Amino acid sequence: MNLNDPVISIKGIGEKSAAALNKAGVFNVSDLLHYFPRTYSVVPEAQKISELSLGARAVVKGRIMGGCSLFSSKGKSVLSFDVGDGTGKLKVYYFGMPYMKKSFPPGRTLILLGNVSFKGDVAVMAQPKVLSEDEYESTKGTLIPVYPETAGLKSATVLKAVKEIISISDRLKDYLPETVINKETLVSLSKAFYDIHFPASREELYAARKRLAFDELFLFIARIQMLKSSTEKEENSFKIDYGQADGVVSGFISKLPYELTGAQLKAINDIKKDMTGEGVAKRLVQGDVGSGKTVVAFAAALMAVSAGYQAAIMAPTEVLAMQHYNEILELTEKYGLPFKTGILTGSVGKADKRRCKELLSDGSLNLVIGTHALLEEDVLFNELALVVTDEQHRFGVAQRRTLSKKGGTPHTVVMSATPIPRTLGLILYGDMDVSLIDELPAKRLERKNAVVDIDYRETFYKFLVKHIREEQVQAYIICPMVEASESEELGMAGDLANVTDYTETLREKLPGDIRISMLHGRMKPAEKNEIMKDFSEHKTDVLVSTTVVEVGVNVPNATIMLVENAERFGLSQLHQLRGRVGRGDKQAYCVFMTGTKGDVSKNTQKRLNILKESNDGFKIAEEDLKQRGPGDFFGLRQSGLPYFKIADIYTDAEMVGRVKAVLQDMTDDGQGGLKALETALRESGNLSYSEFHNIYL
Ligand code: ADP
Ligand code: MG
Repeated sequence: MNLNDPVISIKGIGEKSAAALNKAGVFNVSDLLHYFPRTYSVVPEAQKISELSLGARAVVKGRIMGGCSLFSSKGKSVLSFDVGDGTGKLKVYYFGMPYMKKSFPPGRTLILLGNVSFKGDVAVMAQPKVLSEDEYESTKGTLIPVYPETAGLKSATVLKAVKEIISISDRLKDYLPETVINKETLVSLSKAFYDIHFPASREELYAARKRLAFDELFLFIARIQMLKSSTEKEENSFKIDYGQADGVVSGFISKLPYELTGAQLKAINDIKKDMTGEGVAKRLVQGDVGSGKTVVAFAAALMAVSAGYQAAIMAPTEVLAMQHYNEILELTEKYGLPFKTGILTGSVGKADKRRCKELLSDGSLNLVIGTHALLEEDVLFNELALVVTDEQHRFGVAQRRTLSKKGGTPHTVVMSATPIPRTLGLILYGDMDVSLIDELPAKRLERKNAVVDIDYRETFYKFLVKHIREEQVQAYIICPMVEASESEELGMAGDLANVTDYTETLREKLPGDIRISMLHGRMKPAEKNEIMKDFSEHKTDVLVSTTVVEVGVNVPNATIMLVENAERFGLSQLHQLRGRVGRGDKQAYCVFMTGTKGDVSKNTQKRLNILKESNDGFKIAEEDLKQRGPGDFFGLRQSGLPYFKIADIYTDAEMVGRVKAVLQDMTDDGQGGLKALETALRESGNLSYSEFHNIYL
């Protein structure tokens, strides 16, 4: 077996599994090694039924009492039986597997692993995993990897495949110099890859994670430095007359229905100075969610377009690109702005795409809004003078560069709401000037936040209906999953709210005049756009969604947000999410609901309370880290940065400094420094590392 063998050649992986793996970006053995667990589950010691507590993952040993009944509910078949162990009774359910009935005869002894919930006083396990005595004894207390699941790919499938190939980790050669490995007390690459999948203890897991995070940061920073050393400060070849820029922008600002904040004005002014100055503009506009970055982007585009040049605005999602496009069209019409605007995204039809490209290359379009589709090779401009990248942290560095290479050297303005620790910020944006939008529009009322458990749900629904009816506002309800996860078979996902079932239940539950729609990432782009458009035009009242609305979405009339299973999200992510409400001048409400009750949720609530106390993205990230402690880094995506699979810019902020120092040493030692490293990397056994980073650089 070799690292670049396709996954189909792995024993036990058939065509269906291979296709599912491919879809998740896993094509060969090396990719599979890099498909890191999302978290680890431990099989706990068996517990007495009388001692089970709500929300816990537990093992119960007992006998089936009475018969196993089979009935159907909401079109799904349900198997149900009781298990007793002398201390109490546990109710067990299996859904959609009627054929299992014969496996559960009365009197059979079972070892069940699952999440505990309660129906009144009776403990319940839905879809618990049945363990054999051997399985239980051999897995008790060990860390079992749980892999990220996507449509059609189950964690169990990945686990089976990884088991088949893990011995290949022995053959990985280290490319880091031994001095570095010793100095930084890193484990070897082989050990790290073995242990990240099959750690014998928590200590080994942490050591493995440390090594892999170090490598990720190391290679990332190394590549950025290589890229940066080749770019020099360039001349402004799209110079704009100051008086003219000033005139059109003031005209635009005076027509806006609101006063710009001082920080917005300053950012616009900074860009004006850049574009009318000697050097080409390279500016980062950093401002928290809702601080009003979009209008800054539009003002910048207006300057370029009024001077007869073209501008492009790139957004990370279709939904966001569409939103900007519609907003521009509206402004153009309302204020007679000189924009002829096009849109270029993956879901734009072939003919329209071709037309848009023609108009861009002959210069008849002044402005184009788009997604990654703008980066395609055949997108040519007539005179592209400005590239604005919105939510820049969602793009890779090289993507930003690709677009700015499209003819001449256009001015670049990037916008980001992610607070990036200073050390990393310097690496990512070291060559850029920064405008901070550190002020929120004045008329905003402070958002009201609440942290609650599931007992509050009914109260929330009443609140929701009342507000929708009386104030004609809209609401988001965020669920962590798209549909009931297959993991439930393993008793792992428990009762995580999923968009599909939730929407159905909510439609039954809320009165008929409340219009509910749903949105998630697995829908076709065109469908997503449609749903988002209906919501923004207030054709629907409640949008049940996954985190696809996390970035940039702006529907100011939506003032209420409920996040289900809030414990499943990192605080920074929750902060971005709640930025979707409180974007107008009406009072906004954000409710974070934990999926558990009692003691289990106390710790989570403490963590979530940070969100109540602060509105500062940086502080939130910092506090979250403090409360979770450095050992607790799995499962909670913090920043949403696409660059890293395992490193976290907050948790590992300190490591960034050390990585930089090591790189500096290597560059200084005169042996061709980084070039030598690249060679060593290539020779180290075909790791997909460098490829992985190429995707983002
Ligand atoms: P973000 O910085 O998150 O991208 P947006 O640019 O989407 O924020 O702005 C959020 C909302 O605030 C929008 O509805 C926008 O029209 C509005 N807005 C922007 N600037 C101001 C302002 N100075 N006063 C009032 N509302 C503003
Ligand atoms: Mg935005």
